[in-house]
Amino acid sequence: MKNGKITLVGLGPGSVEHLSARARAAIAEADTVIGYATYVRLVDDLLAGKEVIKKAMTEELDRAIEALARAQQGKNVALISSGDAGVYGMAGPTFEVLFQAGWTPDSPIAVEIVPGASALNSCAALVGAPLTHDFCAISLSDLLTPWPSIARRLDAAAYADFVVALYNPKSGRRTGQILEAQRIFLAHRAPETPVAIVKSAYRPKQRIEFTTLEKMAEADIGMLSTVLIGNSNTFIRHGLMVTPRGYANKYAVEEGARNTHAGEQAGRSLSTGLEGWRAEIRASGESPAVLAARYRLPENYIAAALRAAAENE
Ligand code: SAH
Repeated sequence: MKNGKITLVGLGPGSVEHLSARARAAIAEADTVIGYATYVRLVDDLLAGKEVIKKAMTEELDRAIEALARAQQGKNVALISSGDAGVYGMAGPTFEVLFQAGWTPDSPIAVEIVPGASALNSCAALVGAPLTHDFCAISLSDLLTPWPSIARRLDAAAYADFVVALYNPKSGRRTGQILEAQRIFLAHRAPETPVAIVKSAYRPKQRIEFTTLEKMAEADIGMLSTVLIGNSNTFIRHGLMVTPRGYANKYAVEEGARNTHAGEQAGRSLSTGLEGWRAEIRASGESPAVLAARYRLPENYIAAALRAAAENE
């Protein structure tokens, strides 16, 4: 293997303004640029004199194999992805192809990953602050993932009250998955839970739609949409979707003053934080089975928490 290089470049959502300085530089340094045509177009001004390989969306493995072949000839290859190359992008398939070929980090071919803002970052920025508490991303694409795995993740995320960003929610051929996701969420979350659908964020055809869990299937959702489903505390006000950080659990915000609620202290865990909660369940005298049902946690976990509380006394 010669001293070639593969750079996985995340372009961000798709506007030149949101392309990072390192992403631009990495493309400028490259001999060969490989990517989906839409994204190659985005960096058109940087491509003079370079070999440009435009591949269709479904040819991820081909793109990675092509990149490796060029790098083995000593070329500097930029593989470009929308958003972040490591989020449902080229980074995974590229490492799989590299490992298959016997590549290790000590091999002469260097690999660099340039981070980019992923769709969830871009879409969140456009709708307010939906991700300011725990969230996860789930792709509804069953092209490479069995449906039961996807359904289980949807169910777990819905049950655990994560804010969820749904990637690949719907395409011309895949129209039923979003309905299934809605059904699973409605089993755990209120019908009026806020949902934001962002299509083509930071691109000319950008579209933002606010709806609710109950009505989200009626919305205009496509290949270029990301669906953000709020948690049980998320609200929409003045056209902004906001998930509270939890300050209201600790502070009463009145007339500009910030007073802690009785029993709470700034800079300390909540009274219902780990230590406080353990002491509380121990003091309750209730059985692990009853507590497990109340807190929706495994009984053996509750039993361990009760033991820890006993040791603390
Ligand atoms: N690597 C990309 C994700 C690729 S998967 C990233 O990090 O963002 C493709 C999915 O990403 C789309 O189906 C859509 O759900 C989402 N997506 C990508 N770009 C988007 C954009 N500009 N606006 C809204 N959603 C987008």
